[in-house]
Amino acid sequence: MSINETKPNTRRKLGLMGGTFDPVHNGHLLIANEAGWRLELDAVLFIPTGDPPHKQNLNITPARRRLEMVRLATQDNPLFEVSPIEIERPGLSYTAQTLQALHEDYGEETDFYFIIGVDAAAELLSWNEPDQVVTLAKLVVVNRPGFDLPLAKLQAGLPQIDLNEHLILLDVPLVEISSTEIRHRVSQHISIRYLLPEEVIAYIEREKIYLPQAALPVADGEAQIHAH
Ligand code: ATP
Ligand code: MG
Repeated sequence: MSINETKPNTRRKLGLMGGTFDPVHNGHLLIANEAGWRLELDAVLFIPTGDPPHKQNLNITPARRRLEMVRLATQDNPLFEVSPIEIERPGLSYTAQTLQALHEDYGEETDFYFIIGVDAAAELLSWNEPDQVVTLAKLVVVNRPGFDLPLAKLQAGLPQIDLNEHLILLDVPLVEISSTEIRHRVSQHISIRYLLPEEVIAYIEREKIYLPQAALPVADGEAQIHAH
């Protein structure tokens, strides 16, 4: 018997959960946990994006705060890990580049499962090197209220790839929570309880994130001026 026949399967299955996480919420945590259990992943790595190319003109919370919120939200789940890889890399965050770096870090024994909502998957063709993205990781597409996957359009845009081999469609309980809604609620002083972990809510309150600018203390009675 050769060594290969007796050796147990040592391949590691690693889920990747990328996002702006501004802030992280229970929708993110639920889909990551569902994918972890259903696909029998060894871990799910949360990767907050550093400088998101598709949100260039928007006002995004500093990366270190988004990272801290993800740390607080994930610390009680042994399946979850957090990586600052995109935050620490200078320049724009491209998923293809991140996957390449992770392959180098984790080696050939690891298979990657990139977990994304159907809204994000629908934009795949606008990403940098989408063919590389689906080749370097299996794309685990989860449903999200209000969005459908334009599979035929995606397949037409990637003619050299059989998407059926690279996509896993995973049905998860629909959760109608978004970071946009949470930011809006905080700015309007509406409760966000049960939409995200209590530790993250406490952090948002303590650091006064997402409040309307007028609610922040203003020096010398002057209107605050912000450079965006
Ligand atoms: P924003 O409103 O600022 O865009 P978001 O709630 O969409 O925030 P992101 O950080 O943009 O959160 O999303 C990260 C990933 O999580 C994406 O792949 C997105 O599709 C997925 N996702 C976020 N919320 C949900 C949800 N409620 N159900 C399913 N997938 C979700
Ligand atoms: Mg989003």
